[in-house]
Amino acid sequence: MSGTVYLVGAGPGDIGLITTKGQGLIEEADAIVYDNLANPQFLESAKIDCEMIYVGKKAEHHTLTQDQINELLIELSSKYEKVVRLKGGDPYVFGRGSEEGEVLKAEGIAFEVVPGVTSAIGGLAYAGIPVTSRSIATSFHVITGHTSAGSDSVDYKGLSKLDGTLVFLMGVANIGTIVSELIEGGKSPSTPVAIVHKASTPDQKVFVATLKTVMAKVKKEKIKPPSLIVVGDVVSHRETLNFFEDKPLFGKKILVTRSRDKSSKIVKHLNELGATVVSQPTIKIEKTNDHHLEDGIMHMNLYRGVVFTSAVAVTLFFEQLNQLGLDGRHLAGVKIIAIGSETEKVINDFGIKVDIMPPVFTKEVLRDTLIEELREGDQLLIPRSAKGDLEWIDALAKDFNVKEVKCYDTLPLDSDRLLEMMNDKTFDFDYILFSSSSMVSGFVSQIDNRVKDIGASTKIVVIGPSTRQTALDLGLNVAMQPDKYTIASMIDCILQDVDPMNETKE
Ligand code: SAH
Repeated sequence: MSGTVYLVGAGPGDIGLITTKGQGLIEEADAIVYDNLANPQFLESAKIDCEMIYVGKKAEHHTLTQDQINELLIELSSKYEKVVRLKGGDPYVFGRGSEEGEVLKAEGIAFEVVPGVTSAIGGLAYAGIPVTSRSIATSFHVITGHTSAGSDSVDYKGLSKLDGTLVFLMGVANIGTIVSELIEGGKSPSTPVAIVHKASTPDQKVFVATLKTVMAKVKKEKIKPPSLIVVGDVVSHRETLNFFEDKPLFGKKILVTRSRDKSSKIVKHLNELGATVVSQPTIKIEKTNDHHLEDGIMHMNLYRGVVFTSAVAVTLFFEQLNQLGLDGRHLAGVKIIAIGSETEKVINDFGIKVDIMPPVFTKEVLRDTLIEELREGDQLLIPRSAKGDLEWIDALAKDFNVKEVKCYDTLPLDSDRLLEMMNDKTFDFDYILFSSSSMVSGFVSQIDNRVKDIGASTKIVVIGPSTRQTALDLGLNVAMQPDKYTIASMIDCILQDVDPMNETKE
């Protein structure tokens, strides 16, 4: 077999800045070869069995040479149908993309390029700097700052004569030369300069200076790569055009735990608020193999109501209904009781309205609500997880006839990713979100019980009391728990924590 290699530009960092074509290829890829610049969040949408190969630079790993990367791409294309070579920015802007393409072509391997947003343009935009602007800059020039004297050395004299915006990539180590050559070539020492570090990521930092003062700034602020160096009057737009750093969760890094099969909307929402999110599956959901749910549905006429406690239970219930050749009409006359607005939403998605929902989920409130709406001794069907808090069911059993059906189980999921982050010292989250007890235990097992290694500045947010209890039992410090037990309220908690002046949205 000979597959196709796709050189895909991932954009400068923000997960939203990849093309739809590039995103689609990540989802379909059999193998992905990636390096430092691409946001690791991209890899989360890959297939579970996609082979991921890191070829970037990290202290404890060997860096592959370009020849070795080329060889790797050739080898992978003989094994897989779709191979994605993911590159930061645009693959052809100082990305050695053309070299990889040429080698593949010479080997007769099919290859395609998916252009990306280059940091030289998109990265500047996130710093509030337009690369051109009428009457200020009528052209722009993207230059490698990584040259030594020799055949590929840059013509600084020529550049100094240009009026357009100059954008240097890979220039931090060489900034002394860049600045002195430009001044020597005739650029005014008062020309504005901006250095944009890690553009479009939560670590974005922008330093503004002039050609004359920028060296002192680089030294004082210890500016490191990856950074863009922008020379030109467009830098002055930053004050008005900066939007990214103004987002409420700008600069925040958030870990969202979830189940394996569910990619949650919460990630998108947090991204829109400016946060960078790592979404880590810590549990998998397995249907339990028995006939109790089927029996319950077949004998629906015996029940006065069904209590749904989770979106998973709802989905399994309606799947079973469907498999039995039935639909929502089978539930006519049965009271539908939901715990939590997310559960309610999924029920609505199946075309069914909820009759009863306690305003908050505590065993007392649940009981009081049901007592008001139902008759004592009524029979209730409760499809639920094999794990979980039994207290509230015991409480209900005092007044009602409850029939629990354990229709699924949540099992911890193996993954080394979080431990690797701890070892790399990149486990530097501002917040960790848990929306169920099993996600907490799955998480703790993934980090090998190293709860002590979670930094003091990391705040843990739990959805409700039982999740909180599990977190405390496992040695985690819980910082926040919303009044309403919903994911939206967890986000409101974070927004308020970041800026206490924030009104909680209803
Ligand atoms: N193909 C990439 C550039 C690769 S060269 C692109 O189109 O953007 C690597 C250099 O790009 C880095 O040294 C840095 O100068 C720049 N760069 C890439 N991403 C960046 C980012 N998010 N913030 C600042 N500079 C970035």
